[in-house]
Amino acid sequence: MVDGVQRCDVAIIGAGPVGLFAVFECGMLGFKCQMVDSLGAPGGQCSALYPEKPIFDIPGYPRIEAAELVRRLEEQAAPFAPRYHLDQQVEHLKRLGGGFRLETSRGVTIESRAVIIAAGVGAFGPNRPPLEGLEAYEGKSVFYFVTHREAFRGQRVVIAGGGDSAVDWAISLAELAARVSVIHRRAKFRAAPESAARLEALARAGRIDLVVPYQLHALEGAEGRLDAVIAADLGGATKRIPADVLLPFFGLSMNLGPIAQWGLALDHHHIAVAPATCMSAVEGIFAVGDIATYPGKLKLILSGFAEAALAAHAIHPLIHPGEALHFEYSTMKGVPGRTA
Ligand SMILES: Cc1cc2nc3c(=O)[nH]c(=O)nc-3n(C[C@H](O)[C@H](O)[C@H](O)COP(=O)(O)OP(=O)(O)OC[C@H]3O[C@@H](n4cnc5c(N)ncnc54)[C@H](O)[C@@H]3O)c2cc1C
Repeated sequence: MVDGVQRCDVAIIGAGPVGLFAVFECGMLGFKCQMVDSLGAPGGQCSALYPEKPIFDIPGYPRIEAAELVRRLEEQAAPFAPRYHLDQQVEHLKRLGGGFRLETSRGVTIESRAVIIAAGVGAFGPNRPPLEGLEAYEGKSVFYFVTHREAFRGQRVVIAGGGDSAVDWAISLAELAARVSVIHRRAKFRAAPESAARLEALARAGRIDLVVPYQLHALEGAEGRLDAVIAADLGGATKRIPADVLLPFFGLSMNLGPIAQWGLALDHHHIAVAPATCMSAVEGIFAVGDIATYPGKLKLILSGFAEAALAAHAIHPLIHPGEALHFEYSTMKGVPGRTA
């Protein structure tokens, strides 16, 4: 680092599973990477939304928990010593001579020869319920993601929402919470039919309270510690539910954020790329994973992995113009820097 500017071959925006694998693919071709993520830890949706859920469609792993997949991807990237800039968003991306300059919300400046955008659904955040005084409870007794279900053992948990997350977490937390109540504005849940049936069976068995058709109305407590959640029905009648924790699951707001201002061709909030290279409309800027789109795109982790390999190979002639890339399997060349 000279003059406070970080320099690297490839800047990767987004440290989700696909961004992490892009470090490996770039590393295998000799490129040094720096990564930026607005979340406080790598892993994207896998870490933030479903760390303890098993994934069944990662090749070679009949079943792997999302957090474990992220841990292994970090391990796979580690020999290439990527530099992580976490807890900060890339706000500006500009062309600079033969490369690019990125600026983050924490004032970090990165200059790179190429950029891979692996930003998933963009700078994602939860849809927050419009409740007075909500901010004081966030992170203390109101949580939008469950990263560690054990944290709720013995607690009185109120879940709000009617989709898969609300139903799945209600079923899961009923095993260890002191009480689980689910507030939903309709009697019918929008979750997978077998999950909805299981929820209703647990309610009949008295293990879960269904508060339907009700909506969140107010929070009761002090200094960020909840005492109760107040729900109201459509006629305005209220019900007080004693609670230690509120988990509102109203989906994610998918906000491309600053990415929409970078002059890339967008297609319904996704970056349009050439499927053979994953290059965007701007030469040198690539997009992979959930944020990339092309005809036939499948939003799966495994598609993102393949896209990362395509992008890394397409970057090679930009960094080494006129130099032929001799394709080699990892079995032939091994992993530079890996000890075992
Ligand atoms: C409940 C659930 C279950 C799923 N199950 C499966 C499954 O079984 N199999 C499967 O293949 N897929 C599954 N998926 C989808 C899978 O998680 C996504 O396809 C995958 O996470 C996409 O990876 P990604 O790296 O492209 O993006 P993400 O995981 O979304 O990561 C993108 C990262 O970019 C960061 N970011 C965005 N904008 C910026 C910015 N401007 N500056 C800095 N950082 C930024 C975000 O903070 C985020 O960390 C599931 C998804 C959910 C929600």
